[in-house]
Amino acid sequence: MYSIQLDLHTHTIYSGHAFSTIGENAAEAARRGLEAIAMTDHFSPFMTPRRADGSPDLGPMMNMEGLPKIINGVRILGGVEIDIVDFEGHLAFCDTLPGNHGVSVGERLLRTREIVIASIHMFPGFRDGSFTQNTDLYISALQNPYVDIIGHPCRPGLPFDHTAVARAAKQLGKCLEINNHSFDVPESTDHCRALAIKCAEEGTPIVVSSDAHSAWFVGEFSKVVKMLEEIHFPQELIANESLGKFAALRGKCFA
Ligand SMILES: [Zn+2]
Ligand SMILES: [Zn+2]
Repeated sequence: MYSIQLDLHTHTIYSGHAFSTIGENAAEAARRGLEAIAMTDHFSPFMTPRRADGSPDLGPMMNMEGLPKIINGVRILGGVEIDIVDFEGHLAFCDTLPGNHGVSVGERLLRTREIVIASIHMFPGFRDGSFTQNTDLYISALQNPYVDIIGHPCRPGLPFDHTAVARAAKQLGKCLEINNHSFDVPESTDHCRALAIKCAEEGTPIVVSSDAHSAWFVGEFSKVVKMLEEIHFPQELIANESLGKFAALRGKCFA
């Protein structure tokens, strides 16, 4: 049985299609004995709420001082799940918009985040990329200094070079995520297992997450854990074993 004390990928009602508040998520995390959870609501061209002028609403993500750092004994990390939006690995809203004085709205948000997950959900033509394009986009996203974790790389079902991406993540001190929610998509299950085997071979750290869209699933890792046990995945490569271990890997301080 693995020790996993952090759930670094959870959603709240701010995502627009999730069901629970941060208080409800924290209560479930406490019940399960977690040390910390990251609030990683979507920052996405097609999921983030818009303001009247059409710009993305940063919403509660820019108001973390309005939230205790610790709720029910659980450290709440201010995170984001930001979309990868093209084959160059660019992140959502990270182009410079008029009036932003050279700093994009995406980068303004990323500067404030304790945890940044970069994921593919969809972008125009995303299913038409070649094996090389898919590999390169994940490596480019990993090279973005703000990015800590590639979210559910197996879920979109895009073929990519597991070895090359695992090596890039290891070299950069970053993580590839395998989350429980991905196992709800049957075709991604084998893909997740193959990637985990490659990460074990390459010594690449992974993050095991829930990707919970309601409080009931916060800290729910059972499907990933079962797969990891079957392949005898090493505990030392699970980066979210504890807050201290993850902070050391990423060179961060979560005071
Ligand atoms: Zn996602
Ligand atoms: Zn998610």
